[in-house]
Amino acid sequence: MEAPDFKDFAKSMVDYIANYLENIRDRPVLPTIEPGYLRPLVPERAPERAEPWTAIMEDLERVVMPGVTHWHSPRFHAYFPTANSYPAIVADMLSGAIACIGFTWIASPACTELEVVMLDWLGQMLGLPEQFLARSGGEGGGVIQGTASEATLVALLAAKSRMLQRTKEQHPEWTEAEIVSKLVGYCNKQAHSSVERAGLLGGVRLRQLRPDDRHRLRGDAVRDAIDEDIRNGLIPFYVVATLGTTSSCSFDALQEIGEVCRERGVWLHVDAAYAGSAFICPEYRYLMAGVELADSFNFNPHKWMLVNFDCSAMWLKEPRWVVDAFNVDPLYLKHEQQGSAPDYRHWQIPLGRRFRALKLWFVLRLYGVENLQKFIRNHIAQAHLFEKLCAADERFEIVEEVIMGLVCFRLKGSNELNEELLKRINGRGKIHLVPSKIDDVYFLRLAVCSRFSDDNDIHFSWQEVKDAADEVLKTHKDK
Ligand SMILES: *Cc1c(COP(=O)(O)O)cnc(C)c1O
Repeated sequence: MEAPDFKDFAKSMVDYIANYLENIRDRPVLPTIEPGYLRPLVPERAPERAEPWTAIMEDLERVVMPGVTHWHSPRFHAYFPTANSYPAIVADMLSGAIACIGFTWIASPACTELEVVMLDWLGQMLGLPEQFLARSGGEGGGVIQGTASEATLVALLAAKSRMLQRTKEQHPEWTEAEIVSKLVGYCNKQAHSSVERAGLLGGVRLRQLRPDDRHRLRGDAVRDAIDEDIRNGLIPFYVVATLGTTSSCSFDALQEIGEVCRERGVWLHVDAAYAGSAFICPEYRYLMAGVELADSFNFNPHKWMLVNFDCSAMWLKEPRWVVDAFNVDPLYLKHEQQGSAPDYRHWQIPLGRRFRALKLWFVLRLYGVENLQKFIRNHIAQAHLFEKLCAADERFEIVEEVIMGLVCFRLKGSNELNEELLKRINGRGKIHLVPSKIDDVYFLRLAVCSRFSDDNDIHFSWQEVKDAADEVLKTHKDK
């Protein structure tokens, strides 16, 4: 393809994208096709001869769209949101055009330097302590990871290498394998599954601790577990505090946990994957009180801050524990400016990395902090609207305090009744929700996800839930 065709193709695609997104409400949110639907719709082999780009445009509605779950429909309330905005889409075009691999500073200086500055911008927007920011002139700084799961693993590996070194100094007679076999980390039982997975990948024990009756991990629970393990000859090294759990968006008691970690010299990582975006609004920062006690902090602009996947922001006070622990330095990656700017290859698992800071730069400039705050506040207000509608119907109960854009609710009654309700709601095909279960209580989660969502959409979704409940309760009465 040459430039004239590219221009026509791209312009045509931009029209298609704008049309798709602006009218997304009209598409059924969940596809109705069966597994294997796609193969019969495309040829058995790749074409021998080049096709015109118009042939692809013609196939989008026939082949792709019938199998798409429309995450950006205001009718989509499953999981947590994933971000989408025009500035981020355009930035990804440019990233695709430059198509550099920014593993070292010299491999594309703008790729590294814009990332350093954007993470400073973002850290200031959240009110992170200066120690996390590169602008402080200290060691700390931020990095864009692909996902929160990677950030949790990177933090775990850093914590592991820090505790390994400390323990070796105290017990030079112990082998590395002996020390690793004693390491133990901790998280809330309600922590994301990626935390457990980080323990498995990192080859260390990870204990899931019982939260309080509001599903928050408390300082006492962490202290008791750590002290018990120390008595048993283990070496506590890592705690993950979750701000905004995936199941019900509860917030661990960061200040309490932070004080325990400081007393015991344990690395504290904060996973605020979803809720972290809300800290750009000062009125929600009470939920991250104690963040100055953390060693690393992570949230996903690609969830709730209008930066398309993938963009997971992570800050470390002492990145040297990652950088030095996994520093392999082959000659072909060496350069003369080593040390004067971060070589981000040391901060992450893969070597290669895209120019993702462009997405942040475009979104932050073209929205401005003010509009991003408006967007967050608007979603939270819509969640409270749904909460109000739901609470006013005596057949329903709210099962967790609504703090962010997530409402956890259920029909008063058995888990089976609520399973049936969810099946009805998704079966009617107009809105999409997923369930969760805590302590054997099954409930439904309604997340406000779409950038296009407004109060009318919430009323529509509530009407759907109500109608489905009418059907379910009627069949129960008839039985
Ligand atoms: C979504 C989520 C994750 C996982 O995020 P990825 O970026 O997909 O890895 C981790 N923790 C919490 C609390 C989440 O909500």
